[in-house]
Amino acid sequence: MFLREGPKKHLYYLLLVVGLICTLGQAAQASDLVVHFIDVGQGDSILIQTPTGATVLVDAGDTKAGRQVVVPYLRKLGIQHLDMVVMTHPHFDHIGGLIPVIEAYSVGQVLADGQIHTTRTYEDLLRLILEKEIPFKLARAGGELTISGLDEALVLNPKEPLLKGLNNNSVVLWLRYGQVAFLLTGDIEAEAEERMCTQGKLPQAEILKVAHHGSSTSTTSTFLWAASPKEAIISLGAGNTYNHPHAETLRSLDKAKAKVRRTDLAGTIIVISDGLSYRVVGERETLP
Ligand SMILES: [Zn+2]
Repeated sequence: MFLREGPKKHLYYLLLVVGLICTLGQAAQASDLVVHFIDVGQGDSILIQTPTGATVLVDAGDTKAGRQVVVPYLRKLGIQHLDMVVMTHPHFDHIGGLIPVIEAYSVGQVLADGQIHTTRTYEDLLRLILEKEIPFKLARAGGELTISGLDEALVLNPKEPLLKGLNNNSVVLWLRYGQVAFLLTGDIEAEAEERMCTQGKLPQAEILKVAHHGSSTSTTSTFLWAASPKEAIISLGAGNTYNHPHAETLRSLDKAKAKVRRTDLAGTIIVISDGLSYRVVGERETLP
């Protein structure tokens, strides 16, 4: 179909993208693990759908993104309940969107870093979790989670005593389905990465959610060498004021031979795995 420039073309494009997201999310086989790196602009939001139907949401962008992007995204996928919600750390670009999500959905449990932060958003979120009487679990390194459909789910960070700075104490998860592993890093920085590498063996992961939106304060070469990811997914907003991703990080990832995918360029990025191999699709990459 030939489309002329103008609002109609824009509308058609939007419809196509929305349809594509639904199709991709549903194209997976029943035995597949599907991980969605939802494009929430500058922030993080990752939805995990396991082969047995368990649903885990790690962060939900800021409050606006939660309301306008994450909740509609979950609705389109037909999700009715979240088994687990993970708050990696209390910054607004991660937890703000959890308020509309938790208002809209029943949640089995909340897993959190447990750091003290005094913003209104954080207080509102904690109050909401209390009001809805959602079981609240503290994440600490060495912890193992039971997530139906996954072969392993480990908490690698934070660790006591906590490090300086909210970012460094982000919840870091290592998830494995068959032979495919994911490393979700929140906004950790070099100090947390170093501690994970020196105080224990950092498990390898095919897919790395690059820490802190591609900031040069994270993604050290030691950490990359240990994790040795094949895919590096950066969640960030186009034209953000932090200049993420930083050139040094992109160079390090290139040197480590990790394929970089960015939500500011590709839109929502979906990884589908049968436990033996995986495929990665960006919502804009598949359009002509
Ligand atoms: Zn962040």
